[in-house]
Amino acid sequence: MLNIAFIAHDRKKDEMVNFVIAYEHVFKGHKLYSTGTTGLRIMESTSLQITRFMSGPLGGDQQIGALVAENNMDFIIFLRDPLMAQPHEPDISALLRLCDVQGIPVATNIATAEILVRALDRGDFRWRDLVDKYKPGVDGDK
Ligand code: PGA
Repeated sequence: MLNIAFIAHDRKKDEMVNFVIAYEHVFKGHKLYSTGTTGLRIMESTSLQITRFMSGPLGGDQQIGALVAENNMDFIIFLRDPLMAQPHEPDISALLRLCDVQGIPVATNIATAEILVRALDRGDFRWRDLVDKYKPGVDGDK
């Protein structure tokens, strides 16, 4: 069971909801997280249970980032709006940076999300179980 997070900016929320409906059978076996409104919208349209953090502009990206920093997040679908400036742009950059620090698969558009979810379904993410097992302690020694 992996930890998976969903974040969608406002104009991407419909796309996210439709995507999660389509792959509900894949997500069902995993522990799911989201920012506030994104998770609410997904739960209204599916039978999935999602642990919701704050809304993105109020710190939700940073809360998910905290899990990434501890290497406790396995896969993030982050549908960003590339055509509208966001008030919490620094938080968005920080989250993506942490994903690169830890090597966490993160999809920022639906095409990538589709490929990664199919890989997830096929078992291509099993290497994350090993990461969990050999995770460094809180002192962060690498
Ligand atoms: P939200 O946050 O899911 O609460 O809308 C995501 C965002 O807009 O950054």
